Amino acid sequence: MRVGTGYDIHRLGTGRPLILGGIEIPYDRGLIGHSDGDAVLHAITDAALGASGLGDIGELFPDDDPRFAGADSADLLSGAMEKVTEAGFRVGNLDVNVIAERPKLKPYKDKIAARVAEILKVKTSQVSIKAKTKEKLGPVGRNEAIEVHCVILLLETDS
Ligand code: MG
Repeated sequence: MRVGTGYDIHRLGTGRPLILGGIEIPYDRGLIGHSDGDAVLHAITDAALGASGLGDIGELFPDDDPRFAGADSADLLSGAMEKVTEAGFRVGNLDVNVIAERPKLKPYKDKIAARVAEILKVKTSQVSIKAKTKEKLGPVGRNEAIEVHCVILLLETDS
């Protein structure tokens, strides 16, 4: 068994769709980033890379590389998972905390889990998505950003 953690934070800004966990969520602002800004998929990608000893998302997909400008983060996660699979690991389960003051994410948790499971090619029961607020504290609490933490358990493919 191998465990990995992932963390990401992106600023909220106008003129962008809000993409979280590979789905678009209706809101008047979106996450600013070189890619689509999907902090959920970025945190999962980093957790999986960390667990398998393959570095981090910034090494694989540099944010100054024009190839990844506006990238679909689902493609980045799929690309990382190919390397994780090649390294001999499969997903056991993952647990994700999405911390946002607004919008309220509770209505979207199941849809996000289903989409993440689809990208990872696992069962929805292996994916836990939890939505929290920051109790109005700090930049996330002021609704200037969305923060994500992920813990993932990987298993050796032949175990
Ligand atoms: Mg990111």
